[in-house]
Amino acid sequence: MAGAPGSTRRRTRQAVYEFVRERGLATKKDIADGLGISLPTVGKYLSYFLEAGLLEEGAKLSSGDHGGRSPIAYTCVADGRFAVGVDVNRDRVRCLVVNLDGRVLGTRRTRRAFERSQDYFAFVGREVAATIAETGVDRGLILGVGVAVPGLISETTGQVTYGRVIDNKGISAADFAAHIPYETRLVHDSEAAGFAEFWDKTTVDNAFYVSLSHSVGGSVLIKNAMYRGDGELAGEVGHMRIHDAGLRCYCGRDGCLDPYCNSTVLSRHTDGSIEDFFTRLAAGDPALVTVWDRYTSDLAIAVNNIRVMFGCTIILGGDVGAHSGAQLDDLRHKVERLDFLDTDSRTFLVSASLREHPIAVGAALYLVDEFRQQLGRTLSGALSYSQSPRWSGSVERVATV
Ligand SMILES: [Zn+2]
Repeated sequence: MAGAPGSTRRRTRQAVYEFVRERGLATKKDIADGLGISLPTVGKYLSYFLEAGLLEEGAKLSSGDHGGRSPIAYTCVADGRFAVGVDVNRDRVRCLVVNLDGRVLGTRRTRRAFERSQDYFAFVGREVAATIAETGVDRGLILGVGVAVPGLISETTGQVTYGRVIDNKGISAADFAAHIPYETRLVHDSEAAGFAEFWDKTTVDNAFYVSLSHSVGGSVLIKNAMYRGDGELAGEVGHMRIHDAGLRCYCGRDGCLDPYCNSTVLSRHTDGSIEDFFTRLAAGDPALVTVWDRYTSDLAIAVNNIRVMFGCTIILGGDVGAHSGAQLDDLRHKVERLDFLDTDSRTFLVSASLREHPIAVGAALYLVDEFRQQLGRTLSGALSYSQSPRWSGSVERVATV
């Protein structure tokens, strides 16, 4: 019989790589036994990955269980490829580089107000180039650049369809890509933050990630897959109405969660620094205690609403989630008072585990995730993205150029 179809070969290649990745170290025999394929087939794929710089020989194991000879164990090369993540916000750009393990190798932040202009897109391109240069990674190993922006992004057109936080409606990846010499994707910022939190984790199957940053958003994980609803709206918790005749939201409605619980509600009391807010709060600053009391009362309403709708783990993320861990008792008590089941909130309400730059990290990880899904398409440095993107199935809303 002729060789296996290309898709089967790719699946096998991917399975070999993922097997080694999960094990950390694996011998040829481990892989053959684990995947039920022949030793020569394993050898072929190992050669492929060694040549591609994605696997390397790790330690030689003691002969022990393997008879007389010491078998070679293979391991993944975390620095075999890199991806760049960019977090574009109202007043600054965060740019960073991650490796295949999602480890941040270098990060850069520059203040500049967002504007819809070629000057601005060129500025972002220079930030990407500067970050890569500062990190010192091989540019030939860059998989691509994920640019996270506030706003909903159409799956079909790749354009921002709703962008009132920074007035970016209508922009697309192509606007940034004109100044970035790598594959460039546009992603929704709060979804990127949730993706970073969920990525590569096996501890939760169902979760709701609340992104509490300059704006409030969310991501939904159901049965270990991102849930986006019909269209692009699932998780848009920033526009959950929590008060009648309340504060004006940037969406134009009154009483949404966003104007009560975005991070600037706190940081505007400490010169824009969320870190300083929690430092002074911990020291008992009475003015900030009042601010935090009001904030947690409003957030508790949203948490309870999410809990009764989804009945799953709720992860507090974004800038506030990253820094509020030691100050959550108030919120917990308020959530428990609202909960119709009197559940101990510690069983479902947690702080995000990824504290540093979740939006930019998530934006980069989209590229890493796709790379792993498409492993084996080419042996050259970065993969070709000439074909339409085929995300893992867990994440589908990513615009492509
Ligand atoms: Zn709103």
